[in-house]
Amino acid sequence: MLKKPVYLDYHATTPVDPEVVEAMIPYFTSVFGNAASRNHSFGWSAESAVETARKQIADVIGANPKEIVFTSGATESNNLALRGVAEMYKSKGNHIIVGRTEHKAVLDTAKFLETQGFQITFLPVDEFGMVELSVLENAITEQTILISIMAANNEIGTINPMEEIGKLAKEKGIIFHSDAVQAIGKIPVDVQKWNVDLLSLTAHKIYGPKGIGALYIRRKSPRVRLSPIMFGGGHERGMRSGTLNVPGIVGFGKAAELVLKNLSTEPERLYKLRSRLHAGLLAKLDETKLNGHPVKRLPNNLNVSFAYVEGEALMMAIPDIAVSSGSACTSASLEPSYVLKAIGIGEELAHSSIRFGLGRFTTEEEIDFTIEKTVEAVNRLREMSPLYEMAKEGIDLKTVQWTAH
Ligand SMILES: *Cc1c(COP(=O)(O)O)cnc(C)c1O
Repeated sequence: MLKKPVYLDYHATTPVDPEVVEAMIPYFTSVFGNAASRNHSFGWSAESAVETARKQIADVIGANPKEIVFTSGATESNNLALRGVAEMYKSKGNHIIVGRTEHKAVLDTAKFLETQGFQITFLPVDEFGMVELSVLENAITEQTILISIMAANNEIGTINPMEEIGKLAKEKGIIFHSDAVQAIGKIPVDVQKWNVDLLSLTAHKIYGPKGIGALYIRRKSPRVRLSPIMFGGGHERGMRSGTLNVPGIVGFGKAAELVLKNLSTEPERLYKLRSRLHAGLLAKLDETKLNGHPVKRLPNNLNVSFAYVEGEALMMAIPDIAVSSGSACTSASLEPSYVLKAIGIGEELAHSSIRFGLGRFTTEEEIDFTIEKTVEAVNRLREMSPLYEMAKEGIDLKTVQWTAH
């Protein structure tokens, strides 16, 4: 039996894997020590669990455990990376490059730094949402101290050419940060191969708990230094003070172990389900557009515009399916997503886009249900749309003279 509603919003968050919950439980009650307590076994047990998790997380990205600093999530990791580098290296230069389709945690931190006297380049992307190497190279100046480019986009799933960007940054001696939240467990992530110096992670996108994340900080060639943004007891080698969230960290570690274990099979499974969904929609609906890169995209992401249909209306018409739309429904203005704007698809198509995010617990049955319900809803909404009718009659909507009443 299909359990409803069907969850297809795995880019927003994921359920905690039962194995992760099980691993966490003892650390709330019996092993409750403060990992910074050096004088008794309660502290030692907590610290030992933290160090195990640190290794599990480091292993997923090819890092040394000493290079992992725990944070409250990727928002904090991104803040720490950008603000920490800006403060530490401001005598070297004042220019920072960030991608235009980065998560708000990067964009808004960059905008804050702009008010502090830093010069920011919001790097444009191509029509698929990908960073172009020549455009990046041209943006680099003598003053550039940091490049921040995400590994994979959370809305349209586009994967950036990480190795090439890393190589360029290294050649120019510029620190390279990447928000890799969406890439973990979907594509191989390797901080050595990518030549990345700082990398943001979060547990709740990989079936771990919310409120725990990490920043990878390179310790060798080059050794990257950061100014802290949180001051206090000097935890995490002074880079992030605050008592460690031991149960969260244990869960994060277990979640990391599981994604690494599944990396050889899960992306392929997701890819097949995603292809089934896309093909199923295309077979029964015309006037759809795939947003993002056709090939270089996350295996679990499908972002489609259904022309002549409002994304918000479509979501309301499929209440049994949890997805998200390209309109920022949180804002009063109903602005289309800045990511879709950056790839230049136009307001109309941006407003008609839906993001399907698949994950570990997605089944074929759920995909077939989603196809059926989405096709039904799109057809119903289009039947009510005079614009769709006119377009079907061959009327070029751009030539229509609209009157005021
Ligand atoms: C979810 C997400 C974040 C924010 O992570 P939190 O741990 O929720 O702060 C940052 N970047 C990307 C790409 C994300 O998808």
